[in-house]
Amino acid sequence: MQLFENITKMQEWAREQKKQGQSIALVPTMGYLHEGHLALVKEARRQCDKVVVSIFVNPIQFGAGEDFEQYPRDLEQDSALLEKERVDALFSPGIRDMYPGSFQTFVEAYGEITEKMCGASRPGHFKGVTTVVSKLFNICQPDRAYFGQKDAQQLMIVEKMVRELNFPLEIIRVPIVREKDGLAMSSRNVYLSPEERAEALVLYRALKMAEEEIKNGEREIGIIRQKMEEMIEACPRAAIDYIAINNANDLSELQTCTGKVLIALAVKFGKTRLIDNLIVEV
Ligand code: AMP
Repeated sequence: MQLFENITKMQEWAREQKKQGQSIALVPTMGYLHEGHLALVKEARRQCDKVVVSIFVNPIQFGAGEDFEQYPRDLEQDSALLEKERVDALFSPGIRDMYPGSFQTFVEAYGEITEKMCGASRPGHFKGVTTVVSKLFNICQPDRAYFGQKDAQQLMIVEKMVRELNFPLEIIRVPIVREKDGLAMSSRNVYLSPEERAEALVLYRALKMAEEEIKNGEREIGIIRQKMEEMIEACPRAAIDYIAINNANDLSELQTCTGKVLIALAVKFGKTRLIDNLIVEV
């Protein structure tokens, strides 16, 4: 596996691969890799000739007071995991290279899809995401880029950006990978105390309960949301950021639960904010 820290060298490598007729997969990450990330890498390895994984903790997608400084990092361990998955190139640029002091160009998606859920709780977050993802696309020139359903809203925004700005690539969705007990894998899970870790199971439990309610015929969004709230509020360490039930195609509001429904939530345990979601087809 080749390590690239230099943007121009990464771009030249990608250009050379394309010239030789090789298809390129890109898996953008912030590192501290777990099986969730590796599911994206495995899918990329299966579908493309060359696999590039980027590891970059993107400062502009973190708000003031968020965990940019504390975000876990371990490039050595990540490299070893990626070697095992037969990744061709690891792109790990420096912050100053990605955002020189003079940096003033951003890519921003507007509208309902960015305004609710994480967009409401983390102002500026998605602008940071769409900007860095655009840069990564231009640097790594992928034919396909792999994103996890874990970050459902991010995935939808990136898909919309690719469509509307005509990026010449395909976005591949990869299902959520969970721990055996149901907790969605996340680099942030290491922040949790044992007590918080135990209570964090309530995210998936609440989602599954909502799914069950819908399957049993409940269609009232308010009722389903209230039941989820009650279940989560029974956990003393949990503080709900949001519970959202929306159209899974575009995050538009639903009158009742019909069609493809995205149930998503963000819950804080102390300073750790966890997200999870589930799609139900009614
Ligand atoms: P991150 O490093 O957290 O920015 O995540 C990088 C990519 O991995 C994103 O596309 C995430 O959606 C995806 N990802 C993170 N955790 C999981 C998971 N548990 N299952 C599937 N994909 C994931």
